[in-house]
Amino acid sequence: AEEVGGGDKEVVREYFNGNGFDRWKKIYGETDDVNKVQLDIRIGHSKTVENVMKLLTEDKSLEGVTVCDAGCGTGLLSIPLAKQGAIVSASDISAAMVAEAQQKAKEELVEGSVVQPKFEVKDLESLDGLYNTVVCLDVLIHYPQNKADAMIAHLASLAEERLILSFAPKTFYYDILKRIGELFPGPSKATRAYLHAEADIERALQKVGWKIKNRGLVTTQFYFSRMIEAVPA
Ligand code: SAM
Repeated sequence: AEEVGGGDKEVVREYFNGNGFDRWKKIYGETDDVNKVQLDIRIGHSKTVENVMKLLTEDKSLEGVTVCDAGCGTGLLSIPLAKQGAIVSASDISAAMVAEAQQKAKEELVEGSVVQPKFEVKDLESLDGLYNTVVCLDVLIHYPQNKADAMIAHLASLAEERLILSFAPKTFYYDILKRIGELFPGPSKATRAYLHAEADIERALQKVGWKIKNRGLVTTQFYFSRMIEAVPA
């Protein structure tokens, strides 16, 4: 069977333009019509976004800093980045996600007061350009490790100063698959969620001359996400 880059990517695209869009839009939204699992994931994910914003703003201002938000989803990171003055290039494989993010940015960012993020429908592999910072949150779950290496190398090649990634750590493998398998695409849904060992991610970064500078971890009952900040070694 083909994986990301072939059939798997099509499955992911279709999922996030269809059922997956409806599910994740709710999870990433603000409405009350979520179940206990979805609410828990919403809270966990918002903690990840909060941690990334803290990391990106603690040393210096984001004013004029170029940021690539790869796999931007509904824009939950792109919008706060733009609020802080970052020049955001946001993209996602799903046109539905990009449309939702664009709509939200229009609602939440006051025209003329900040630079609006530039939204594009694009998969990670076709991203180009050079950015101060590249961020890719909770997307690696759609990449098996053998594809993740190339994906990480590509994202690192787009970043000048830092690369921030978050992924579901393999330490919680059975927990995650058991608890949230139904939230991932594919015919055999649980097998379509790929978890990653931190050591594998670190090795992929080292191979292209990057090293890990900061690590964070968010776990709730149903959400598990390891965040790493990498810089050129
Ligand atoms: N990064 C966003 C956030 O943290 O709010 C969204 C995370 S969501 C779990 C995963 C997103 O990755 C979806 O919007 C999906 O469409 C996108 N995605 C999956 N595979 C992708 C690929 N190959 N290229 C670009 N985006 C992809």
